[in-house]
Amino acid sequence: MHQGRFDTLAIHAGQSPDIASGAVMTPIVLSSTFAQDGPGVHKGYDYSRAGNPTRTALEGCLAALEGASDAIAFSSGCAATTAILMMLKSGDHVLSGDDVYGGTFRIFDKVMKQFGVTADLIDMADPAKVEAALKPNTKMIWLETPSNPMLKIFDIERIAALAKKRGILCVVDNTFATPYLQSPLALGADLVVHSATKYLNGHSDVVGGCVMTSNKELGETLHFLQKAVGSVPSPFDCYLVLRGLKTLGVRMRQHVQSARTLAEYLEGHAQVARVIYPGLASHPGHAVAQKQMRGFGGMISFDVKGGLPAATKFLKSLQVFACAESLGGVESLAEHPAIMTHASLTAEGRAALGIGDGLLRLSVGIEDVSDLREDLDRGFRAALS
Ligand SMILES: *Cc1c(COP(=O)(O)O)cnc(C)c1O
Repeated sequence: MHQGRFDTLAIHAGQSPDIASGAVMTPIVLSSTFAQDGPGVHKGYDYSRAGNPTRTALEGCLAALEGASDAIAFSSGCAATTAILMMLKSGDHVLSGDDVYGGTFRIFDKVMKQFGVTADLIDMADPAKVEAALKPNTKMIWLETPSNPMLKIFDIERIAALAKKRGILCVVDNTFATPYLQSPLALGADLVVHSATKYLNGHSDVVGGCVMTSNKELGETLHFLQKAVGSVPSPFDCYLVLRGLKTLGVRMRQHVQSARTLAEYLEGHAQVARVIYPGLASHPGHAVAQKQMRGFGGMISFDVKGGLPAATKFLKSLQVFACAESLGGVESLAEHPAIMTHASLTAEGRAALGIGDGLLRLSVGIEDVSDLREDLDRGFRAALS
């Protein structure tokens, strides 16, 4: 079934009762190979790297949620990113947002470079700067919005229009927003990439990724790369993401509501030097976020006064928030970007982005928000001690 609104698609798209048994929930098909009626005559599956029924169900659901004609599932977000970059050739150039996911930067810097694909990172908050930074060999623009951890907002519609005018592919990493809050393809992007590890699965028990597109040719190329390179998700992981997707809308509504409550609480707190949340009027990208998002997400970054000692005491005292990397699960997480997720950047690189020693990043979960606020209170009391 591919009809209906978001919450209906999340539960039904790509899935129908199993023909053999009537099972309402999608079976986990573990078989690596499929019987053929005769040589080359089969039911659409011959070998599980090339195609698997559980994966097909997941891809159908992912495509429907992103409003795409095709979804291609991978074994991680980084595998999805790599597959997209493998469409480029030696000599090509990628222009990327500066606050891009660390693993994505590492693929640009340490993997693609040796194949002759170069990348430049710039602040894309001003689309005029994007135009100025395009080179004759720029073949792809890579946008991550909201970005991580500074939650910068880039104007997808304007940047995608610029890319289209020059025949450049526009890719949006939609991991932080999810298709519930932001639809990059409708805003003109050619490709959407996700770490399904985060909100799509939503329960911090799978590593996965996917790419969505409504361009048939790109879809075919990516399906080919999925099969040829082979970084495919296991049937069990596909099942788990499919299960997680069913509650994506319900979860996102709570993530957004609780994050707003906590962002406002933090903005009024005497021990907080700065709160970064796209839903606050104080955020420089607030107007663009309001234009292109249907809600401002569940991630908050803030600077606690007192630098590293205060930030460390704060994190160590939390009881509901776990001190951990990653994001997007039902459980709340808090982390220190300079020491944890963004340690691979140089000190100058972090300083240029505004990632200081007092910066903390919250992935606001869906526990009772009063318990979350009390936990932050506990952190602030500890930071003062
Ligand atoms: C986690 C993440 C990735 C990479 O995904 P993995 O599943 O960890 O490989 C890419 N982009 C963003 C924004 C992420 O948060």
